[in-house]
Amino acid sequence: MSRRNFVMGAVALAAAVLPLTAGMASAAPTATVVYYNASGAPTFQSAIASGAANWNRAVSNVQLRSRTSGATLRYTEGNDPRGSYAQTNGHGSGTIFIDYTQARQYDVVRIAAHETGHALGLPDHYSGPCSELMSGGGPGTSCHNANPNATEAARVQRLWANGLAANSAPSNTIYETVYAK
Ligand SMILES: [Zn+2]
Repeated sequence: MSRRNFVMGAVALAAAVLPLTAGMASAAPTATVVYYNASGAPTFQSAIASGAANWNRAVSNVQLRSRTSGATLRYTEGNDPRGSYAQTNGHGSGTIFIDYTQARQYDVVRIAAHETGHALGLPDHYSGPCSELMSGGGPGTSCHNANPNATEAARVQRLWANGLAANSAPSNTIYETVYAK
């Protein structure tokens, strides 16, 4: 590339980026914040925080923040023969349960991130590979991936593109899903 082309390219890039920056400064497209409370799952608080951080890195239209009062998303823990599950409307509200037995068998950050994915509007896809977060327990206990793949992140980005009110996930659907069938 000649120097002249380089300069022209830089000018074009600046022109393309500047309006976006200006737009963000005046009317920032702020992320919707989903507040969660993990105090009901004291054993798994760090796993829950790690799972939330994974989502926060992967998407920008919705962000998870820990808060002890006024949270719409709650995590609990205990023993349940069904294993871990989410009861959520897919719009950031509901309850996530982490099962002790399953947490010993499977990667617990993956469990937390997976169930959180339901609260963000994603369904299960047990037949998917380990690289998919929403395949849950499908790939088996050796799967330690706790990050959504690009397709899953893009889907959440679309669902939350215009804020909570415009979230196109079917709000009348209550996901009651288990981590592993
Ligand atoms: Zn699930």
